[in-house]
Amino acid sequence: MPARSDALSWITATVKNKKNGAFVGGEWHRDDPSKSAHLIKVINPATGEILCELRESDKSVVDHAAAAALAAFTSGPWTKWPRSERAAALIKIGAEIRKHHHELAALETLCNGKTWAESFHDDIPESASVFDYYAGWIDKIYGETCPVEQGFVNFTLRESVGPCALIVPWNFPLLLACWKIAPALAMGNTVVIKPSPQTSLSMLRLAEIIHDAKILPAGVFNVVVGGGPTGEALTHNDAIAKVSFTGGTDTGRAVLKGSADSNLKSVTLELGGKSPNIIFGDAKNLQAVIDRSFQAMFSHKGEKCSEPTRLIVHRSLHDKVVTALVEKAEKTRCGDPFADTTDQGPQCFEGHMERILGYIKAGKAEGAKCVAGGNRDTAGDNAKGYFVRPTIFTGVTREMKIFQEEIFGPVLAVSVFDTEEEAIELANATRYGLAAGLYTADADRAMRVSRRLDAGMVFVNRYGCYDFSSPFGGFKQSGWGKEMAIHSLESYTRRKSIWFAVAPN
Ligand code: NDP
Repeated sequence: MPARSDALSWITATVKNKKNGAFVGGEWHRDDPSKSAHLIKVINPATGEILCELRESDKSVVDHAAAAALAAFTSGPWTKWPRSERAAALIKIGAEIRKHHHELAALETLCNGKTWAESFHDDIPESASVFDYYAGWIDKIYGETCPVEQGFVNFTLRESVGPCALIVPWNFPLLLACWKIAPALAMGNTVVIKPSPQTSLSMLRLAEIIHDAKILPAGVFNVVVGGGPTGEALTHNDAIAKVSFTGGTDTGRAVLKGSADSNLKSVTLELGGKSPNIIFGDAKNLQAVIDRSFQAMFSHKGEKCSEPTRLIVHRSLHDKVVTALVEKAEKTRCGDPFADTTDQGPQCFEGHMERILGYIKAGKAEGAKCVAGGNRDTAGDNAKGYFVRPTIFTGVTREMKIFQEEIFGPVLAVSVFDTEEEAIELANATRYGLAAGLYTADADRAMRVSRRLDAGMVFVNRYGCYDFSSPFGGFKQSGWGKEMAIHSLESYTRRKSIWFAVAPN
C-alpha cells in the first residue's frame, strides 16, 4: 500500500536519521550529541517490530520549547496578525492535513494499530475539519458591557491566555491534539504539544508540514516527545499559562498537582470513562440497537474514552441481546490493520494489552461469566502483535472491578435490570461521568432518565453522536471543562474587566 510506504520512508529518512524527538521553534531540536538521552522505541503493535527510536525530551528540551512558545507569544509577529490572517492560517493547516491525508492516516495506523478505515475515514478528515470550524469563530468572540453604577463604563475583553501545553493520549493521537490546537491558535495562543511517545509521529509530521508550508511563525507550534517526566516538566513550567490535558483520571490529578506546585496555570481535563448504555424493554428496532451498541463499544478496539463499556439491559431482552452481541464478537476479524478484511486492529502497545488481559482475568475470578473472547488472538501472524479478542462478560455486578474500572479495551460488561430506578442507579454507580446512552421508545422516559444520568453527554436512541458544535466532556472524575463548540474557546481566553470613569473628579 503506497500510503504505508510513504509513511515508512518518512520515518526512515527523517526520524531515524535525526534520532530526535522534539520540534521546537520551527526546527528539529538539536540535542547536545555529547549528552546521552533516553531513547523511546516506537513499536508497530501489529508486528512487534521497532519502527524507530525517538529521543525523549528532557527538562531542558521542554524548557526550550516553553521558552520558544513564550517568545513567539510576547515578541513574535503572531499576536499582531490581523484576525483574517489567523483564520487563513487555520484554514491552510486543515488543507495541508487533507493534502497529506494518506500519509498521516498511515502513521496513525502504523503506530496506534487502529484500522486503516478508522484512521482514513474518521481521524484524519476530522482533524482537518476542526481547523475550518474554529477559523470561523475567530471574529465572533465578544466580551460584554456590564451594568455597573452610573459614572462608570465597565466592559470585558477576551484575551489570549499565552503559551498552552496540550497533552494528549495515544488513542486518537492527531485528532485529540487538533481538538485542542485549533481553538488554542484561533484565540491567538501559542502551543507546546506533548503526544504520547508511542504515537508521536503523526504530530511530528504535522509540525514539519506546517513548517514547510510556512503557515505559522516559528515558535507558535512546538512538539515535545516523551512520557510522564516530559509531561510533568511541562505542567511545572512557569512559562506555560494553561494546560489542556486528555488522559487517565490519575494522570489528571498529577497535572493538577503540577499546576498547584508551580504558577497555578489554568487546567482543563478530559479524563477517563466507564460509560453505561441502557437498553429498556421497549427499545424500538432491536437489531439496529444491537448493531449500534456493538459498533459504539468495539470500534477503535475499545480504546475510546466515551465507549459504552457497560451494557445495562432490561431482563426481558437480556438473552436476545447477548446472543446477538456474542455472534458479532465471534465474527470479528482481528489482523493487519491495513487490510480491508480486518475489523479490529491490535491494542496500541504490549503493556496495554497485558493490562486488558489482567482485567479479563479479574472478571473471571470475580465470578462474571465470559461469554465471548476472553483471550489474546494469536492466529497466524497475529501471534507477533498485541491482539485481544472482543470480550463480553455477563452477570456483572457493581462491586466488580470490570464494572467500576476503565479497561480501555474491547471488554464489555453486561448487567441486567428490572426497573427504571435500578437502571439509573446502576448507570450512575461509578466514579466516572463522561457519557451515557439509553434506548427507549418512550419519550417521557427518555427525558426523565436523561436528566437523572450523571454524565456530561447523554445519547438517546443513538450512542456516540459528535459534532464540533456540541460540547464534549464529562462530569465527576471524568473531567473539568468542555472541549468543542464555543466552550473550548472560553478556556483558551481570559476575561479582563476594564473600568472607565465617565466623569473623573
Ligand atoms: P495517560 O493519562 O496515561 O496519559 C495521557 C498523556 O499524559 C500521555 O501523553 C502521557 O504520557 C502523559 N503523562 C503521563 N504522566 C504524566 C504526568 N505526570 N504529567 C503530565 N503528563 C503525563 O492516558 P493514556 O495515554 O493511557 O490514555 C488513556 C486515557 O485517556 C484513558 O483513561 C481515557 O479514558 C483517556 N481519554 C479521555 C478522553 C476524553 O475526552 N475524556 C479521550 C481519550 C482518552 P505517556 O503516554 O508516556 O504516559
